[in-house]
Amino acid sequence: MQVNDTMEPGLANTDKIRLNRREFLKRSAVTAATVGTGFGIKRVYALKGKSSVAEKKVIVIGIDGMDPRLSQEMMNEGKLPNFDKLRKSGGFSILGTSIPPQSPVAWANFINGAGPGSHGIFDFIHRHPEEQCVPFFSVTETVAGKGYWEIGDHKLQLDFWPFNHKPPATLLRRQGIPFWDYLDEAGIYSTFYDLPSNYPPSPSKYGRHRCLAGMGTPDMLGTYGTYQHFSEDGPLVTKDEGGGKRSMLFFENETARAKLIGPRNDFLKNPEPVTIEFVVYRDIKAKAAVIEIQKHRIPLKEGQWSHWVKLDFEMSKPGFNRHINGICRFYLPEVSPNFRLYVSPINADPSNPAIKLTEPPAFVKEISNRLGLFYTTGFQEDHKALSNKVFTDEEYRIQADYVLQERLNLLDYALENYDDGLLFFYFSSTDLQAHMFWWDTDEKHPTRSAEDAVKYFNHLKGIYGRMDSVVGDIMKRYGDKATIIVMSDHGFANFKRQFSLNSWLRENGYLYPPDSTSILRDVDWSKTRAYGLGMNGLYLNLKGRERDGIVEAGGEREELVEELINKLEAVRDVNGRNVIHKAHRTDKTYTGPATRLAPDIVVGYSRGYRASWATCLGDMTKEVLLDNDSAWSADHCADASEVPGVIFSNKPIGADAPSLVDVAPSILTEFGLNIPHSIEGKNIFTT
Ligand SMILES: [Zn+2]
Repeated sequence: MQVNDTMEPGLANTDKIRLNRREFLKRSAVTAATVGTGFGIKRVYALKGKSSVAEKKVIVIGIDGMDPRLSQEMMNEGKLPNFDKLRKSGGFSILGTSIPPQSPVAWANFINGAGPGSHGIFDFIHRHPEEQCVPFFSVTETVAGKGYWEIGDHKLQLDFWPFNHKPPATLLRRQGIPFWDYLDEAGIYSTFYDLPSNYPPSPSKYGRHRCLAGMGTPDMLGTYGTYQHFSEDGPLVTKDEGGGKRSMLFFENETARAKLIGPRNDFLKNPEPVTIEFVVYRDIKAKAAVIEIQKHRIPLKEGQWSHWVKLDFEMSKPGFNRHINGICRFYLPEVSPNFRLYVSPINADPSNPAIKLTEPPAFVKEISNRLGLFYTTGFQEDHKALSNKVFTDEEYRIQADYVLQERLNLLDYALENYDDGLLFFYFSSTDLQAHMFWWDTDEKHPTRSAEDAVKYFNHLKGIYGRMDSVVGDIMKRYGDKATIIVMSDHGFANFKRQFSLNSWLRENGYLYPPDSTSILRDVDWSKTRAYGLGMNGLYLNLKGRERDGIVEAGGEREELVEELINKLEAVRDVNGRNVIHKAHRTDKTYTGPATRLAPDIVVGYSRGYRASWATCLGDMTKEVLLDNDSAWSADHCADASEVPGVIFSNKPIGADAPSLVDVAPSILTEFGLNIPHSIEGKNIFTT
């Protein structure tokens, strides 16, 4: 993410949109009255925005990672009575997920009603073939600007000059047509809250689609969430630890000064982050501290969280300086003997966002007017703080609960502001708490005692229970007025063992030299035929595609793909277990125009296994198979058939084996629209 003058200013056009909507409703009422009872639903589509299907309501609740095994077990035990009611009336099925079953891929399948060949998202991480596998995040790309005028230490974007300039921009890389575009065109309103794989949110052509972006939205540092941790035993020079920064606090007379790191100032020739100084006053006896930052004075007792705090980052710039808002929360885990202070990732301020959080841009301000400040980053549960041992299990549970509470407030807002059309609402708790708290075996947990493993898995079951109450409430309010769909993008499995794909390729002679440690550092590309990157991707070093490619297209490629698939599917762990359930060749799996960046093979792991932490960014470990030692102890980046999701509805589901791509066409059909050609899926409500 880059923050600069060209970013969305959060235009205050809410009133206009409201007015349009009121006018629109009035007009459609007249149209409906004129046409009379012969007003056919199918004809509405042809009317293209002149009217809406009279007050039809569809509500979709997306529960990320809700798992069919656990759901069925809990329903059988009577612990999910509302879900069970839907199941008993025929509205339940296992839902096929995407290949690979990673959240950004899966939600993009939902959005397009079509697979990765349509939307072009194949993994959390893609690579630039022309730059020999330099990795980047798959959903959003920040492109650098062109054409600057340098003034001293600063640079000024030449946006008034007609040629040879291009402002920097953050782009959504998802391709194809999101299904709400068809609703928008047909005069049907849709509102999405916290939708993944849609940052920056795609524009609405007819102004009937609104969206608050979810997973994929960055924090103000341009990352997916970077906490800051200050402690007396911290490092002298601030240290990055993947998802967080650690710094030292030095107390003199019980007073310490430190700097909070903010967004990067891209107006500088050599961009640097803007910082805000703050002071900590400590009272060891009272087990408390006061933090002074800008105009705020925040008293905190040990173990206490602050409310959201608004920060003002001043970016020096030629002419006048620019001010950018951010929000954060402080948490004080320990006053003495080792004073520790946690600062949440600095989120974009929903009341005055520096980045585009919603479509239309002013929508988020409208929400914030009612709800105040709230998390706006895509990953809100701070799992990195737990993985990096900044949080204990209990601290993570509490922080994740704040997130769920904010979401429940947002759901109240969403339901209060919903008349008709489509309402989509998303919950992350069942995914990001499952990654840390799922453990459905007696075997030893990587970081937890047997007792705690059970305790926190029970806590996760409690979250399923809370989702059941949410569904119960919605059923009570809308059960006889709306089509209600509750769905997940994939299920869950323990993550006990890691498979180091590049180490395996090296050991089997596909990757050179034998002592290489990373595909980004020391691989000999003139002899390397294949490499792994991301959670499930395996790429051939193909001539004409990769910058230093050596594998010839045609026969050589064909032979190599088949050989790799056979060998991968034959890999066994020390106990004889099958590590890879299925290796998919993507030229047989994906269809559509957006396959340019697809891996050649998607590695589908068996339950219990996943790509090693090292593999994701192209690194190698000594061993091919090793234990997972992280608090991130459950996952779903396995084979699609190992971790399907669920779908529930208050309408019987007729389809035999529904899949994520089938949800969009089912929604369109509910609104009386024909299923467009861009959609691969089928209506789940028919057989
Ligand atoms: Zn997911």
